[in-house]
Amino acid sequence: MEKEQDKLRIDELQSRLSQLAKAYYEEDQPLAEDHEYDALYHELVQLEEKYPEWVASDSITQRVGGDVSTGFTKITHDYPMLSLGNAFNLEDLKAFEERNKKIITGPIEYMCELKIDGLAISVKYDNGKFVQGATRGDGKVGEDITGNLKMVQSLPKTLDSSLTMEVRGECYMPKSSFVKLNEQRELDGKEVFANPRNAAAGSLRQLDSKVVKERELSAFLYASATPKELGVTSQSAALDALDSLGFSTNQERKICYSIEEVWDYVQEFQEKRPTLGYEIDGIVIKVNNFEDQEKIGYTVKAPKWAIAYKFPAEEAETVVEDIEWTL
Ligand code: NAD
Repeated sequence: MEKEQDKLRIDELQSRLSQLAKAYYEEDQPLAEDHEYDALYHELVQLEEKYPEWVASDSITQRVGGDVSTGFTKITHDYPMLSLGNAFNLEDLKAFEERNKKIITGPIEYMCELKIDGLAISVKYDNGKFVQGATRGDGKVGEDITGNLKMVQSLPKTLDSSLTMEVRGECYMPKSSFVKLNEQRELDGKEVFANPRNAAAGSLRQLDSKVVKERELSAFLYASATPKELGVTSQSAALDALDSLGFSTNQERKICYSIEEVWDYVQEFQEKRPTLGYEIDGIVIKVNNFEDQEKIGYTVKAPKWAIAYKFPAEEAETVVEDIEWTL
């Protein structure tokens, strides 16, 4: 009886989460708050852990993001653009540390970075020149948004080097630009955006590049698709190398030498979050050393050497839509 009910619940969760993911990733019109989505997702993960034989290969827990929209040319990523596993409390972070310790002997350094709440982007440079920009899409195939990303001022059009490389980052709308944009939209009688993330995603995935220019988007880069080509052996050194090449990286980052130190950093930025000029929804914790990362490896969806601690829901968020939570 319990097994039958669990099976029904799995099907319900798959269907509801797919509906929410489509609205969020493909239509930039979320139907729920992130913490509500996260709670349903977590429930599904737990049920799938209980019944591994029922984990479908197309389960929402096994795929990244959403489908690409038809208005854009499709781009197949040379290297997959992955998601991140989530942590919601200190116990989850300790469990992450325990998993790492089973593989890595000796001390582990963690690079802590702010989790920027925007849209994942990939940008290619050929001989130091910006040639292509894409969304993450389903992780394998994204949308060609080169024209739109060229309008993002903080993305260099030419590098201080003739490198051919692909960088990854997050494109976002600063809070001040978001407020200004929504005020103007209200005056114009247009629908307002639910939050800066949707405003950024909606702006980047529309077809007129001139509009993107007016929207004052910005970007923080946090990785190279082939970091070894930068001649570095760790995430912290990769970020420094991106700085030297003229990329905008987030300077609020810290190497931590224990999970307790990571936790202090998490607490610090949970408090500082409202004072930042851009939205963050958590802290990304990455095993710093590339050799260690390779040993720890990947799931089908995310690196096992990194985890995203998600902040608890903020009190004063915009209510997106009243929804029935009895699926
Ligand atoms: P994610 O957003 O939890 O994490 C992966 C993303 O983090 C990457 O794509 C990356 O671009 C970004 N990121 C930001 N800063 C980073 C940094 N410093 N280093 C590395 N990556 C960084 O995972 P996801 O699969 O993109 O999305 C899942 C999340 O989206 C859910 O947890 C949920 O909160 C939200 N979501 C909400 C709804 C909804 O209805 N509200 C629906 C679907 C998904």
